[in-house]
Amino acid sequence: MNRTVNASAGEPVAPGGCIGILGGGQLGRMLATAAAELGLTAHVYCPDENSPAFDVAAEKTVAAYDDADALARFADNVDAVTYEFENVPAETVRILTEHAPVRPGAQALATAQDRLAEKTFIAEQGIRTAPFRAVDDAAGLAQAIADLGTPAILKTRRFGYDGKGQTRIEADTAPQAALDEIGNAPAILEGFVPFEREISVIVARGQDGAIAAYDPVENIHKNHILDRSFAPAALTPGIAAEAIEIASTIVRELDYVGVMGVELFLLPESAGNENRLLVNEIAPRVHNSGHWTMDACLVSQFEQHVRAICGWPLGSAARHSDAVMTNLIGEDAADWTTLAAEPGCAIHLYGKTEIRTGRKMGHVTRLFPIGELPVTRN
Ligand code: AMP
Repeated sequence: MNRTVNASAGEPVAPGGCIGILGGGQLGRMLATAAAELGLTAHVYCPDENSPAFDVAAEKTVAAYDDADALARFADNVDAVTYEFENVPAETVRILTEHAPVRPGAQALATAQDRLAEKTFIAEQGIRTAPFRAVDDAAGLAQAIADLGTPAILKTRRFGYDGKGQTRIEADTAPQAALDEIGNAPAILEGFVPFEREISVIVARGQDGAIAAYDPVENIHKNHILDRSFAPAALTPGIAAEAIEIASTIVRELDYVGVMGVELFLLPESAGNENRLLVNEIAPRVHNSGHWTMDACLVSQFEQHVRAICGWPLGSAARHSDAVMTNLIGEDAADWTTLAAEPGCAIHLYGKTEIRTGRKMGHVTRLFPIGELPVTRN
């Protein structure tokens, strides 16, 4: 292939350029589509040859994430590399970085991959998190339980998602049994947060340091998987601004480039609860709770991420409509004809041929005039 790699430091990736995406799921698919809208192409790298993102990518590589030759070839043929999942091995990033700019960078990825590093970094910024302790063995867990009390949540430091790799600790839980449940992996214990609601902020930071944040949304989970996002979350202007400020501080202090999802807990309003927001976790990538931006904003989170990693100016994160995003999980997607016929409902299907329980098959976004979001949250 005869193409010029044009992303030397400081130069934006111009239309005609190619972004490399590690990971071939729905997030990679929607990133590749957004890239195409900007006149760019996408090269998707994924070990699974049935990846949904391959359908919409100009180039594909089917290879393992530790295949050094394939990684080098891939990165040599793109202008910038990004990823759609945070568990990219550090060695993979190191190899890629020798051949192309990787955005977001290695430091942000390392911080977000490890719950201990993540919470330590966030707390260092003066931002609240659940109280936490590092746990390496049963004695350490017993001490952490003594420090933080019960209930508490034991989470693996790495590779947790959608509630996987965690278990609840009650007063009568035996430390070793809890560690067995999470495979005896290095862990952290978190004090239980009696939150009122869960919200998130999708924030983008460009290579010039500009920051664009979407309005905070409220998230409802079912079976540990995101079910719905309400945009905007019903928050006082002060709390909404504080949530955006927290997310902005995190991307600024990480010198981050790209879109990040910042998940927060909102504590109930009560005496002594002046500081009601705590960060639960950060995702160094586009995020499920930002899918509504595809239909309710001028510039979606996917376009925003492509703009950021390519050194373009960020676009507006303003919302032209209120929105409820509902994930289509498993059999929900079988209802596609009804959903497609519904006025005011945008349907997005991920091209996954096999319906499986708990599998994210697509999502729908229902739009409402600003200020007319339904209040039902159940
Ligand atoms: P995570 O994998 O950290 O996002 O956790 C999955 C879900 O578990 C969150 O969305 C919360 O509903 C719940 N959760 C996680 N950590 C805590 C905590 N420290 N206190 C209370 N609930 C939590």
